[in-house]
Amino acid sequence: MDDQVRKTDKDVSVISNGCHFCFVYKDTVELADLLQDYVMSGLYGNELCVWMTPDVESATKAKDMLKEKGIYIDPYLRTSQLEFVLIPELPENDLKLLPSLLLDHWRLMQDQAILNGFDGLRVNVDLQDVEGSGLEYLTSYTDIVEDTVRELGMRSLCTFPLDIFSRSEVIDLIHSDHNVIIKVDENDLSFKEDVSDSKPERSVYRKPMRNDEVLSSIYHSSPTVAFLWKTEKGFPVEFVSDNVSQFGYDAATLISHEILYADIIHPDDLEGYYSDLLECLNENKRNFFREYRILDRNGNVHWVSEHSNLEVVEGSASDRYYGIILDITEKKHAEYQLKETEAKYRTLFEGSGDAIYLQKPDGTFLEANKSGLELLGYTNEEFLSLNSGSAILFDLVEEFKAHLAEVLNNGHSIFETVLLKKDETGVPVEISATLIEYKGENAILLVSRNVTERKNKEENVLAAKANAETGIIAKSEFLSNMTHELRTPLNAIIGFSDVLLEESLADANEKHVKYLQNISDSGKKLLGIINDILEISRVESGNVELNYEHFLVLESFDVVCSLLAPMAEKKYVDLHSELDPRGIVINADKQKFEQILQNLVSNAIKFTPAGGSVDISARFVEERLLVQVKDTGIGISEEDRQSLFKPFSQVDASHRRGYGGTGLGLSIVKHFVDLHGGNVWVKSKPDLGSTFSFDIPISGASPCTAKSIT
Ligand code: ADP
Repeated sequence: MDDQVRKTDKDVSVISNGCHFCFVYKDTVELADLLQDYVMSGLYGNELCVWMTPDVESATKAKDMLKEKGIYIDPYLRTSQLEFVLIPELPENDLKLLPSLLLDHWRLMQDQAILNGFDGLRVNVDLQDVEGSGLEYLTSYTDIVEDTVRELGMRSLCTFPLDIFSRSEVIDLIHSDHNVIIKVDENDLSFKEDVSDSKPERSVYRKPMRNDEVLSSIYHSSPTVAFLWKTEKGFPVEFVSDNVSQFGYDAATLISHEILYADIIHPDDLEGYYSDLLECLNENKRNFFREYRILDRNGNVHWVSEHSNLEVVEGSASDRYYGIILDITEKKHAEYQLKETEAKYRTLFEGSGDAIYLQKPDGTFLEANKSGLELLGYTNEEFLSLNSGSAILFDLVEEFKAHLAEVLNNGHSIFETVLLKKDETGVPVEISATLIEYKGENAILLVSRNVTERKNKEENVLAAKANAETGIIAKSEFLSNMTHELRTPLNAIIGFSDVLLEESLADANEKHVKYLQNISDSGKKLLGIINDILEISRVESGNVELNYEHFLVLESFDVVCSLLAPMAEKKYVDLHSELDPRGIVINADKQKFEQILQNLVSNAIKFTPAGGSVDISARFVEERLLVQVKDTGIGISEEDRQSLFKPFSQVDASHRRGYGGTGLGLSIVKHFVDLHGGNVWVKSKPDLGSTFSFDIPISGASPCTAKSIT
């Protein structure tokens, strides 16, 4: 009794494309369940599914129920959208009017659906018991629906509420020509009749169709394309899932053998494909795997991977094989790019002039480039058996390990060390070490540059510097000794010529006096030069110390002015001094301060033509004393100002002839001002005069020592 069933246990999802079905349901919940399956798995392509019902209430109910089940709209799954439409009312229930009415209505909807981007329309009709109707009415209604739908090349599913039928009507329905699925609640309805015996030929489901349908629906939204080929020439396709459309092909075209699979395979890969497959067949292997290129409908190349199984069909002319292909173009491109990048880095690695080593954090060497092996003198094999610690000069191993630890912590470190070569000699290198990922693990890349040459140069420079320094000191010592030795006889010459001048003034004739005066003047000039040289050499050898004392700046101004007044008078140059305030007291080396002032003022007088003026001023600026010597002399060009304070520098050689001097005065000024922790500078324009300024701390704080200046 239990197998009265053409009925409850059938799964609605097996309804194949192109079939028209009647579905008889007990209540709307069951109907909703089954329709959910139907819509989710039975629809084909991007169809618009229309459910028609004559009853507004049942339409709303069903609509809500289906919506609740989440099947209302899901365009991304490429299933369908569902639309509810009320069946138009027939004037006087005249069924004859129905076909043309439905036809017009559906045709319109079909066009609209396609216009809106759907593949077409699928029609479900819910047949209610309309007043005055019965099974006959409903079944003829079903026939009309199916015929009309067929005419439009669509599919339909008609549903009847089971409650409205009597048992005999239900049995009639089963016996009718329709493909019927009946969903019954066994408690309410039991069928005693074994219908399967009476109409065995009415098996609705053909098995192969069902498998294809299931496969088709599985593969529908998957990127994997399912195939069933024959091993005959050209590989005619027996079955292919619809999503072959991703390559621009239509499943029907392939299945009809209009296009063979061999037509799709890239011509360059076809031979390899054939021979691989042949080998598989010959060796009786069942699994076939290959990556190759295919051409899509537009001729674009796609890489695919094929996994298939060979099926030897007994007694058949050809074997079949079935499997899947997957578009791996992107993966292939990525692989290609990776290979390219790898090749690029490999070339850089091998071709680099720097020695490059790769080691694990524990020191085990992993790789070395050619330069790396050459630098150490090992073969690759010998090198790989080493640990980085054994390739470092013994004394520096601990320091090297500390650097590696730094790399592990910070990702990078640059340091110098000495590598130990195979012949046990050392080679100084500068290493740039970086933490990298190598085959999924941490590794340290050591890019080492041989710095032997640089080291040698550095050593040479240091030696040269030391030599030069010794030379400078020796020179300065020599100069200070020599100038001292020169000064003694020179003082005697000056002294005695002055004595002679004073004593023999009455007796000597004019000529003799003039000669004696010349001897005295030249001697004094020479003494000035010797003093300057002595001063400079003292400063250069670092033998100058400042004797700080508090003194009135006014005093120093008076000393310098009275010393240089005769010179100014002689040249008809006005000499002025101004102090603000007059009682300025500073803590400095008085002698050096006066020397600075004297050098600047004598230059100013020297380079100012007759009729000009020289003004000396001093004032406080913050905690410093600012002294300025301003003249209206010949001025100095910008270019010449650059080297003004360097020893022995004069603006041009003609100065020496025109104005005399050694080019040491300003250099001494700079040294003395520096020693006081001050600054000296000049503002000048050619022909418009110059202003030399210097400032020093009034409190005597001197950040510079004689040694540091040297
Ligand atoms: P010198 O013994 O030659 O005067 P200095 O070191 O004192 O040596 O000066 C260097 C040069 O700077 C001078 O030869 C001169 O060309 C230029 N100079 C210095 N002071 C002045 C100034 N007040 N006006 C113009 N030129 C000057």
